[in-house]
Amino acid sequence: MRSSDAASYDAIVIGAGISGAVMAERMASQLNWRVLVIDQRSHIGGNCFDELDADGIRIHRYGPHLFHTDREDVWQYLSHFTRWQPYEHRVLSSIDGELVPIPFNLTSIERCFPEEKAQRMISALIARFGEEARVPILELRKEAEPLLAELADFIYQKAFVNYTSKQWGVAPEAISPAVTARVPVVVSRDDRYFTDPWQALPADGYTAMFAAMLNHPAIEVRLSTPMSEMLRFDWESQRIYRREGGEESLFTGKVIYTGMIDQLFAADRGALRYRSLRFSFERKDQPWWQPATTVNYPNDHDYTRITEFRHLMQPEPAAAATTVVYEFPKEFDPAAGDEPYYPVFTEEGQHRFDDYAARAKAMSQLHCLGRLAQYKYFDMDDAVANALEAFTALEAAIRSKSAGGESVPHG
Ligand SMILES: Cc1cc2nc3c(=O)[nH]c(=O)nc-3n(C[C@H](O)[C@H](O)[C@H](O)COP(=O)(O)OP(=O)(O)OC[C@H]3O[C@@H](n4cnc5c(N)ncnc54)[C@H](O)[C@@H]3O)c2cc1C
Repeated sequence: MRSSDAASYDAIVIGAGISGAVMAERMASQLNWRVLVIDQRSHIGGNCFDELDADGIRIHRYGPHLFHTDREDVWQYLSHFTRWQPYEHRVLSSIDGELVPIPFNLTSIERCFPEEKAQRMISALIARFGEEARVPILELRKEAEPLLAELADFIYQKAFVNYTSKQWGVAPEAISPAVTARVPVVVSRDDRYFTDPWQALPADGYTAMFAAMLNHPAIEVRLSTPMSEMLRFDWESQRIYRREGGEESLFTGKVIYTGMIDQLFAADRGALRYRSLRFSFERKDQPWWQPATTVNYPNDHDYTRITEFRHLMQPEPAAAATTVVYEFPKEFDPAAGDEPYYPVFTEEGQHRFDDYAARAKAMSQLHCLGRLAQYKYFDMDDAVANALEAFTALEAAIRSKSAGGESVPHG
């Protein structure tokens, strides 16, 4: 990362999360562009930011982040910036006082039903779908065989409805079965939460991986810098001005914006809705707190789940204490300092988004990228793939422009 002495940049990236970091790295390394990355937070990494706490346990400040992908290109790309520590995620759910594997598998059935009934359910499942099958819960709910229908109903009611209701802040009756339609029931003892071929954690953490991406002589990073300090958009004239040392000058380079798209327009057509979370970190004075990384609490308590970070570390930390985080879902309230985590999709929200996106697109210098600017939920691998695709499109446009004799503007 360069120190802040440069007068001009080819691109300014707003946001040092996955989307911004991938774009900045690509533009610097593939196009030889000078890139300024700013973030309003005091750290890089966006929501994937992690750090060691006082006990030497690596915690994820914005909730547990488990990397998994079936995209080899994403895996290869990230592997340039980190070594990996193998890790397969396992989740238990607290149901009627038992901790049972999620997704529901044969062990879960045995823990939730009396022995003889559990064996009959297991035999019926194997006979109908075969061993190793992964059956979407909605399909299971359509089964005429009463035992399978009972099992499907049990899982739906006990493991999903209340969890989903808490997460989205809607009454259990209002949850559409379609929401959990694709949640599988596993006809085996496989208790992995994800089945992707690549599952791992960056060996030195996500923050170190992003630092390696941004560690390029042509990239400068400025933290604790909101966009309004650096840029002004004039939508009428379709121009972007750069602010520096009390002066304003026209900026003609590219702007990659990874913040909330409605904020570009001061939400003049209304704010986009988000669901937020309150994270409550607790230090427990004992080496281990729970038997799996994450335990879901669908039916009791205001929190949805507890994650214990120690499970994510190899080698095991020496600390005698452990750190857990409780997640309390809530409506996103910017005035309360909440973070916007999950888009809440409504028809009205979609219209608003389409309107903002069309206005942003009209400014050809500006590229809206990532979960907040595209108002989409992206897993980390999707966010990387999305940014790589955006870069490929940008590169193709730049190359065809320069082949046509046009010069590429500098800011
Ligand atoms: C609770 C939770 C758990 C998750 N767990 C997983 C998981 O286990 N596995 C997985 O694959 N994915 C997970 N994800 C998804 C993952 O967090 C996203 O894929 C990723 O954060 C997307 O990166 P991004 O760069 O698009 O956005 P962000 O990470 O949000 O980065 C955007 C950055 O832009 C900055 N910014 C915004 N506006 C401005 C402005 N005006 N001025 C300056 N800076 C600005 C922000 O401060 C932020 O740093 C999880 C998400 C949540 C909410």
